[in-house]
Amino acid sequence: MNRLTGFVFENKVAHGAFVELSEGVGEMLGRRAYSGDVRKLLGEAMAAMPLLATHLGYEGRINLQFQGEDAVKMLVAQVDHHLEVRAMAKAPEDLQGSFTGLLRGGVLALMLEPNAEHRESTQASVPIEGTSLAQALEAYFTQSEQLPTLIRLAADGDRLRGFLLQRMPLEDARGGEEDWEHVSILAATLKPEEMLQADLATLLGRLFAEEEVRVFEPRPVTVACRCSRAGISRLLLSLGREECDSILAEQGRIAVTCEFCGKEYAFTQFETAELFAAAGAVPSTTRH
Ligand SMILES: [Zn+2]
Repeated sequence: MNRLTGFVFENKVAHGAFVELSEGVGEMLGRRAYSGDVRKLLGEAMAAMPLLATHLGYEGRINLQFQGEDAVKMLVAQVDHHLEVRAMAKAPEDLQGSFTGLLRGGVLALMLEPNAEHRESTQASVPIEGTSLAQALEAYFTQSEQLPTLIRLAADGDRLRGFLLQRMPLEDARGGEEDWEHVSILAATLKPEEMLQADLATLLGRLFAEEEVRVFEPRPVTVACRCSRAGISRLLLSLGREECDSILAEQGRIAVTCEFCGKEYAFTQFETAELFAAAGAVPSTTRH
């Protein structure tokens, strides 16, 4: 079962989470031809997303997004507040390389996108440094969020694992800085291979044998594409009537293929006209 399990140290110096994904992973990663290294990077990105969602204090979505020209052209991994994960990349099929090699010359960013209209989306860049996506995300947390964080990601075929350990505000903790250092040094010994072989209880027992750790009820995670005709309709509305009419004049219909799952959504001239007519009839209270 795909799940995200949170835990907290009883002395409140740190909390963490462990994610296990396998269902739906092969299907999502199998939709495009990825080289071994790109597939591994994409798998690690998928494993990271539920860990990042432990910070999502609202309904919405988190995007990890990469744009580049030299090696990987594009990589997107998303998670929403239902813990639904989807991801895709565009890269030459034979592209191999290290983390910084695959992402050379590009820009990696985390975008927080709340659903509520009154909340602004925010974007922060993730430094492309270190030897792995996990290290880059650790640098992000240290620099942007000023939260000492340890992240481990593992991808082996369809089995993805992620581990996060993060310091909590010490003014509320029963422990101090030295307690954080102690648990973070222990956690730093965690190897990706161990995460693929052992469950969370075993890992916590091995890493923190002397510590009191409370483990929360696991939350289910889905690896699937949430695209819908309604979502594509909103996309067409945002393109505008003029743009849609010009596509219809050229191609006779509008066909939009979801980049994540490959599903095609087609709109005839009549359906497009109906869509814009219906949108025009919507009371403007919902659309400021
Ligand atoms: Zn889709």
